Amino acid sequence: MKISFSQLRLIVAGFSVASMVCTASRAAQTSRDPQISGPSTTVVIDAGHGGYDRGGIPGQRIPEKEMTLDVAQRLKALLAAGGYRVVMTRNSDVFVPLAARVAIANSYGNAIFVCIHFNSAKRMGAGGIETYFYSRESLPLASAIHYYVAGGAPSSNRGVRRRGFYVLRKTRVPSVLVECGFLTNPTEGEYVQTSTYRQKLAEEIAAGVRGRNSVGSALSATRMATAESIPLQPYIDQTKVTKSERKRPKHSHKKSVRKKKSSSQPTESEASAASKNPEGN
Ligand SMILES: [Zn+2]
Repeated sequence: MKISFSQLRLIVAGFSVASMVCTASRAAQTSRDPQISGPSTTVVIDAGHGGYDRGGIPGQRIPEKEMTLDVAQRLKALLAAGGYRVVMTRNSDVFVPLAARVAIANSYGNAIFVCIHFNSAKRMGAGGIETYFYSRESLPLASAIHYYVAGGAPSSNRGVRRRGFYVLRKTRVPSVLVECGFLTNPTEGEYVQTSTYRQKLAEEIAAGVRGRNSVGSALSATRMATAESIPLQPYIDQTKVTKSERKRPKHSHKKSVRKKKSSSQPTESEASAASKNPEGN
């Protein structure tokens, strides 16, 4: 089902309520065919932040929302040229609620959802590429995108991580959130401000989209972890080193749900996470 923007506005409010009430298991909702591949796939590209949501941390010089949109638009051009049907959750500097982004992705039966973000940290030395997924069916896509982006970037490899970010948890299609480097890192920040590097990032993400089945299966047959071996991770800000800096970055997509896996891990209920970070900002 396609949704026009006017229709979308009408359903966003209701969807937001429904998404908070609905607690059905994600596994039950998810029945996407993992074998879907090729240009018949719809790629929903989600440029992080936008409008009044600048992204990053307070005082950050490089606006994350502009970098994500630029990479997203470059990715759109690359995938469209390759025959993919591409849908953008935003194509300008506007604010789009997270629930609306998810609704767009879920409105396409054969979609994959690619969220583009950049990281930020108070510690300037923090850097690297990290890629997030949540559902089991998203792992091949996450592995492939991370394989190419981390492999093609001069940044360090922070790994593929499983975490329940809202946009990953609520989408019923394979979904990945890639953090394409730290804008607060002087070296990575300088790279990202060049169009050449942003084009490179888009090309690597596109390579991951194209190779999501072959790369995932190849890696899983050798050294790559399976969904079972990458546990849902509690929120640990791994960019911080000193105790005084242990504070959650104000990053709107970082709304993760911690599963009560073991007593050694901190827990946080979805309700408390939502109350601290109202969804959709
Ligand atoms: Zn972000």
